Amino acid sequence: MSNKKIETKCLHSGYTPKNGEPRMLPIVQSTTFKYESSKEMGDLFDLKAEGYFYSRLANPTNDAVAAKIADLEGGVAAILTSSGQAANFYALFNIVGAGDHIVASSAIYGGTFNLISVTMKKMGIDATFIAPDSSYEEICTAIKPNTKAVFGEVLANPALAVLDIETFAKAAHDNGVPLIVDNTFPTPINCRPFEFGADIVTHSTSKYMDGHATVVGGVVVDSGNFDWSQYPQKFACIVDPDPSYHGISYSEQFGKGAYITKLTAQLMRDLGSIPSAMNCFLLNLGLESLHLRVERHCQNAEKIAKYLEAHEKVTWVNYPNLECNRYFELAKKYLPKGSSGVISFGIKGGRDAATAFMDSLELCTVATHVADAKTCILHPASTTHRQMTNEQLIESGTTPDLIRLSVGIENADDIIEDIEQALTKI
Ligand SMILES: *Cc1c(COP(=O)(O)O)cnc(C)c1O
Repeated sequence: MSNKKIETKCLHSGYTPKNGEPRMLPIVQSTTFKYESSKEMGDLFDLKAEGYFYSRLANPTNDAVAAKIADLEGGVAAILTSSGQAANFYALFNIVGAGDHIVASSAIYGGTFNLISVTMKKMGIDATFIAPDSSYEEICTAIKPNTKAVFGEVLANPALAVLDIETFAKAAHDNGVPLIVDNTFPTPINCRPFEFGADIVTHSTSKYMDGHATVVGGVVVDSGNFDWSQYPQKFACIVDPDPSYHGISYSEQFGKGAYITKLTAQLMRDLGSIPSAMNCFLLNLGLESLHLRVERHCQNAEKIAKYLEAHEKVTWVNYPNLECNRYFELAKKYLPKGSSGVISFGIKGGRDAATAFMDSLELCTVATHVADAKTCILHPASTTHRQMTNEQLIESGTTPDLIRLSVGIENADDIIEDIEQALTKI
């Protein structure tokens, strides 16, 4: 599939039915798989043969959808997880352990910020957070001898900062560590981070990929480009024999597939967090129209961002594709087809006016979600980000007055009409 255009891949990658087989990806709703002999199954356990034996490690429906996303991103392999949180945790924990260190952009999703700064810290993993606009030198300064990964979001949720992927990748690579980026908001339709040097991409598929607010899920995709064996001491976990897997070396035995094979064989085996085959089927349905939806989300969002920008009751609008935006140039480079359907803005009167405005909306629904087909709206400081202090909020780019609008694929004029009537009520 890799020579086809991305729109075609959305429909056809990952599953090619043979003569007389189902047109649609089958849901293999089975925990186990049957074999004729113990020897055949033993070879599977030893990773000597390819095949399915237990759905915690692999399932045909899951694999087909993972292969589709790997193809959309231009990667070599991918694994689906039961949530975006699990995807980011696994992507990092696959190469980072107690005594190690992570350098992360401070403009990231609140859940990921907590994961790295609180939960992974309890596991003995340290982190340094740096501004998303850090220079090459600033990134290099934050990297320590025990740093194992640099992490950022291509388009930060909800700050909408655009990551300079090339600068982050160069700083990471010059220090012998991979760059992991969360590409949830742009999706591979708007940005393919591997083309700019990122090594590993993660997604919360709960957003545009599923697209209909139906299933929570995540994915980790490997470009296959980071050469672990070049740093055998730093990445001993991939290069050295794994005693929990009969002493195999992932980098030696699986080459470009080492990272995802290790993640599957160790982390999925020990921690679980696989999505159900049914959820993978639903995710696949979403992926089939991803290209159409993302295009419309962006068209609508641009129209609404311009409307808000011109409104007297609106104090500021943050949308990377507006010319006045501080990320406009980076957006032109990394997100030329559009950023996403997400806009943030502030209205006159701060916190109280924001609440009054939101309570007056009729079509736009208040929801702790973004990036699905229906327009939804949220005040992060009082909901998703409520564990954060005012200082942390400002540092992460999510100011206390920020309203996050996730523009859906309704008719843009209907959305504007709803916003207009709610603004007149404050
Ligand atoms: C939502 C989100 C996550 C977490 O994903 P879940 O599927 O909700 O677990 C991680 N990163 C980003 C950028 C997100 O928007």
